[in-house]
Amino acid sequence: MRVAKETVVAIEYTLKDDQGNIIDASGDRGPMEYLHGAQNIIPGLEQGVDGLVAGDTKSVLVPPQLGYGEYSEKLLQLVPLNAFGANTPQIGMRFHAETNLGMRVLTIKKIEGEEVTLDGNHELAGKTLHFDIKVVSVRAAELTELSHGHPHQSGGCCGGGGCGSGESSSEGGCCSTGEASEGGCCSSEEGASAGGCCSTEQPVAQKQGGCGSAGCGCSA
Ligand SMILES: [Zn+2]
Repeated sequence: MRVAKETVVAIEYTLKDDQGNIIDASGDRGPMEYLHGAQNIIPGLEQGVDGLVAGDTKSVLVPPQLGYGEYSEKLLQLVPLNAFGANTPQIGMRFHAETNLGMRVLTIKKIEGEEVTLDGNHELAGKTLHFDIKVVSVRAAELTELSHGHPHQSGGCCGGGGCGSGESSSEGGCCSTGEASEGGCCSSEEGASAGGCCSTEQPVAQKQGGCGSAGCGCSA
Protein backbone atom coordinates (compact mmCIF):
# COMPACT_ATOMS: atom_id res chain seq x y z
CA MET A 1 0.00 0.00 0.00
CA ARG A 2 1.27 3.44 -0.88
CA VAL A 3 1.17 6.40 1.46
CA ALA A 4 -1.88 8.44 0.50
CA LYS A 5 -4.73 10.33 2.08
CA GLU A 6 -6.56 8.26 4.71
CA THR A 7 -3.66 5.94 5.44
CA VAL A 8 -1.96 5.63 8.81
CA VAL A 9 1.78 5.78 8.34
CA ALA A 10 4.58 4.89 10.71
CA ILE A 11 7.97 6.42 10.01
CA GLU A 12 11.35 6.38 11.66
CA TYR A 13 13.22 9.60 11.20
CA THR A 14 16.27 11.61 12.06
CA LEU A 15 16.01 15.38 11.89
CA LYS A 16 19.09 17.53 11.40
CA ASP A 17 19.68 21.23 11.03
CA ASP A 18 21.74 22.95 8.34
CA GLN A 19 24.93 22.20 10.25
CA GLY A 20 24.16 18.51 10.48
CA ASN A 21 23.36 18.56 14.19
CA ILE A 22 20.69 16.08 15.17
CA ILE A 23 17.67 17.97 16.47
CA ASP A 24 15.39 15.02 16.99
CA ALA A 25 15.09 11.36 16.09
CA SER A 26 12.43 8.75 16.51
CA GLY A 27 15.14 6.50 17.92
CA ASP A 28 14.21 4.96 21.24
CA ARG A 29 10.71 6.41 21.08
CA GLY A 30 9.93 4.12 18.20
CA PRO A 31 8.36 5.04 14.89
CA MET A 32 6.09 8.05 14.72
CA GLU A 33 2.61 7.18 13.57
CA TYR A 34 0.32 9.70 11.95
CA LEU A 35 -2.76 9.99 9.79
CA HIS A 36 -1.70 11.08 6.32
CA GLY A 37 -3.55 14.03 4.86
CA ALA A 38 -4.89 15.19 8.21
CA GLN A 39 -2.24 17.79 8.96
CA ASN A 40 -0.84 15.72 11.81
CA ILE A 41 2.69 16.55 10.76
CA ILE A 42 4.38 19.49 9.10
CA PRO A 43 3.40 19.91 5.43
CA GLY A 44 6.88 19.53 3.99
CA LEU A 45 7.41 16.19 5.64
CA GLU A 46 3.96 14.95 4.67
CA GLN A 47 4.64 15.85 1.05
CA GLY A 48 7.94 14.01 1.22
CA VAL A 49 6.34 10.81 2.47
CA ASP A 50 3.46 10.87 0.00
CA GLY A 51 3.46 7.95 -2.40
CA LEU A 52 6.13 5.92 -0.59
CA VAL A 53 5.70 2.29 0.48
CA ALA A 54 6.86 0.41 3.57
CA GLY A 55 10.59 -0.06 3.53
CA ASP A 56 11.32 3.07 1.50
CA THR A 57 13.94 5.47 2.77
CA LYS A 58 14.27 9.07 1.69
CA SER A 59 15.92 12.36 2.55
CA VAL A 60 13.40 15.17 2.77
CA LEU A 61 14.43 18.82 2.82
CA VAL A 62 11.81 21.03 4.43
CA PRO A 63 12.10 24.83 4.07
CA PRO A 64 10.73 26.99 6.91
CA GLN A 65 7.53 27.84 5.07
CA LEU A 66 6.68 24.13 4.85
CA GLY A 67 7.96 23.48 8.35
CA TYR A 68 7.46 25.73 11.34
CA GLY A 69 7.27 29.05 9.50
CA GLU A 70 9.63 32.00 9.39
CA TYR A 71 10.79 33.53 12.64
CA SER A 72 8.64 36.55 13.44
CA GLU A 73 9.52 39.35 15.85
CA LYS A 74 5.80 40.03 16.03
CA LEU A 75 5.40 36.91 18.10
CA LEU A 76 7.48 38.36 20.91
CA GLN A 77 5.52 39.98 23.69
CA LEU A 78 6.22 41.48 27.09
CA VAL A 79 4.17 40.56 30.12
CA PRO A 80 4.61 41.66 33.72
CA LEU A 81 6.24 39.22 36.09
CA ASN A 82 3.22 39.29 38.37
CA ALA A 83 1.10 37.79 35.56
CA PHE A 84 2.56 34.46 36.59
CA GLY A 85 1.02 34.61 40.03
CA ALA A 86 2.44 31.99 42.28
CA ASN A 87 4.38 30.30 39.50
CA THR A 88 8.01 31.22 39.15
CA PRO A 89 8.85 31.82 35.51
CA GLN A 90 12.13 30.44 34.25
CA ILE A 91 13.85 30.98 30.95
CA GLY A 92 13.01 28.19 28.55
CA MET A 93 9.76 27.28 30.27
CA ARG A 94 6.92 26.72 27.83
CA PHE A 95 3.18 26.82 28.14
CA HIS A 96 0.04 27.13 26.10
CA ALA A 97 -1.73 30.44 26.10
CA GLU A 98 -4.37 32.29 24.18
CA THR A 99 -2.86 35.06 22.09
CA ASN A 100 -4.21 37.34 19.40
CA LEU A 101 -3.15 34.66 16.94
CA GLY A 102 -5.03 31.92 18.75
CA MET A 103 -3.64 29.19 20.96
CA ARG A 104 0.15 29.14 20.86
CA VAL A 105 2.96 27.54 22.73
CA LEU A 106 4.88 30.39 24.32
CA THR A 107 8.45 30.12 25.51
CA ILE A 108 9.89 32.38 28.18
CA LYS A 109 12.78 33.97 26.37
CA LYS A 110 13.99 36.64 28.76
CA ILE A 111 13.30 37.85 32.29
CA GLU A 112 14.42 41.37 33.07
CA GLY A 113 13.35 43.02 36.27
CA GLU A 114 9.58 42.91 36.32
CA GLU A 115 9.29 42.15 32.63
CA VAL A 116 9.07 38.75 31.02
CA THR A 117 9.55 38.31 27.27
CA LEU A 118 7.44 35.57 25.75
CA ASP A 119 8.25 34.09 22.36
CA GLY A 120 5.39 32.61 20.36
CA ASN A 121 7.65 31.31 17.61
CA HIS A 122 8.14 27.60 17.39
CA GLU A 123 11.66 26.66 18.41
CA LEU A 124 12.28 25.55 14.84
CA ALA A 125 10.80 28.63 13.18
CA GLY A 126 13.07 29.95 10.44
CA LYS A 127 14.99 26.70 10.18
CA THR A 128 15.45 24.45 7.21
CA LEU A 129 14.85 20.89 8.32
CA HIS A 130 16.72 17.89 6.99
CA PHE A 131 14.83 14.66 7.54
CA ASP A 132 16.12 11.18 6.85
CA ILE A 133 13.07 8.96 6.97
CA LYS A 134 12.18 5.33 6.66
CA VAL A 135 8.62 4.19 6.14
CA VAL A 136 7.94 1.37 8.60
CA SER A 137 4.32 0.63 7.78
CA VAL A 138 1.34 1.91 5.84
CA ARG A 139 -2.22 0.82 6.51
CA ALA A 140 -5.73 2.02 5.77
CA ALA A 141 -7.12 4.24 8.51
CA GLU A 142 -10.06 3.08 10.64
CA LEU A 143 -13.28 5.05 10.44
CA THR A 144 -12.87 6.37 13.98
CA GLU A 145 -9.37 7.51 13.17
CA LEU A 146 -10.66 9.41 10.17
CA SER A 147 -13.39 11.05 12.20
CA HIS A 148 -10.94 11.98 14.98
CA GLY A 149 -8.24 13.03 12.57
CA HIS A 150 -5.46 11.00 14.18
CA PRO A 151 -4.28 7.41 14.59
CA HIS A 152 -5.24 5.28 17.59
CA GLN A 153 -2.59 2.65 17.67
CA SER A 154 0.19 3.48 20.02
CA GLY A 155 -1.43 4.25 23.30
CA GLY A 156 -4.69 5.97 22.59
CA CYS A 157 -5.39 9.45 21.60
CA CYS A 158 -2.29 11.04 22.91
CA GLY A 159 -0.12 8.51 21.23
CA GLY A 160 2.45 8.03 23.92
CA GLY A 161 2.97 11.68 24.61
CA GLY A 162 3.10 13.05 28.06
CA CYS A 163 -0.55 13.93 28.44
CA GLY A 164 -3.38 12.32 30.11
CA SER A 165 -1.19 11.37 32.97
CA GLY A 166 -3.10 13.42 35.40
CA GLU A 167 -1.51 16.30 37.13
CA SER A 168 -2.50 19.20 34.99
CA SER A 169 -5.85 18.06 33.73
CA SER A 170 -8.03 19.90 36.17
CA GLU A 171 -7.11 23.31 34.94
CA GLY A 172 -7.05 22.78 31.25
CA GLY A 173 -3.86 20.91 30.80
CA CYS A 174 -2.30 20.07 27.53
CA CYS A 175 -5.02 17.73 26.48
CA SER A 176 -7.76 20.27 26.76
CA THR A 177 -9.00 22.13 23.77
CA GLY A 178 -8.05 25.52 25.07
CA GLU A 179 -8.54 27.84 27.97
CA ALA A 180 -5.14 26.92 29.18
CA SER A 181 -4.10 30.45 29.83
CA GLU A 182 -4.46 29.91 33.53
CA GLY A 183 -2.92 26.55 33.85
CA GLY A 184 -1.37 25.31 30.69
CA CYS A 185 0.51 22.12 30.87
CA CYS A 186 3.64 23.69 32.17
CA SER A 187 2.02 25.41 35.07
CA SER A 188 1.82 22.27 37.10
CA GLU A 189 4.92 21.22 38.93
CA GLU A 190 5.55 18.25 36.71
CA GLY A 191 4.78 19.84 33.41
CA ALA A 192 7.62 22.23 33.06
CA SER A 193 10.52 20.11 34.02
CA ALA A 194 9.68 16.49 33.71
CA GLY A 195 8.59 15.89 30.19
CA GLY A 196 5.08 17.19 30.06
CA CYS A 197 3.43 17.94 26.78
CA CYS A 198 5.23 21.19 26.39
CA SER A 199 8.63 19.70 26.79
CA THR A 200 10.93 18.65 24.03
CA GLU A 201 9.92 15.04 24.64
CA GLN A 202 7.24 15.60 22.05
CA PRO A 203 8.25 14.43 18.60
CA VAL A 204 9.50 17.47 16.82
CA ALA A 205 8.02 16.50 13.50
CA GLN A 206 4.53 16.72 14.87
CA LYS A 207 2.78 20.00 14.73
CA GLN A 208 2.28 21.91 17.90
CA GLY A 209 -1.09 22.30 19.45
CA GLY A 210 -2.85 19.89 21.65
CA CYS A 211 -1.02 16.72 22.29
CA GLY A 212 1.37 16.50 19.47
CA SER A 213 -0.82 16.37 16.47
CA ALA A 214 -4.05 15.29 17.84
CA GLY A 215 -5.70 17.65 20.19
CA CYS A 216 -7.08 14.92 22.32
CA GLY A 217 -10.27 14.42 24.09
CA CYS A 218 -11.33 11.14 22.62
CA SER A 219 -11.61 8.05 24.74
CA ALA A 220 -10.05 5.71 22.25
ZN1 LIG B 1 -9.00 9.93 18.95
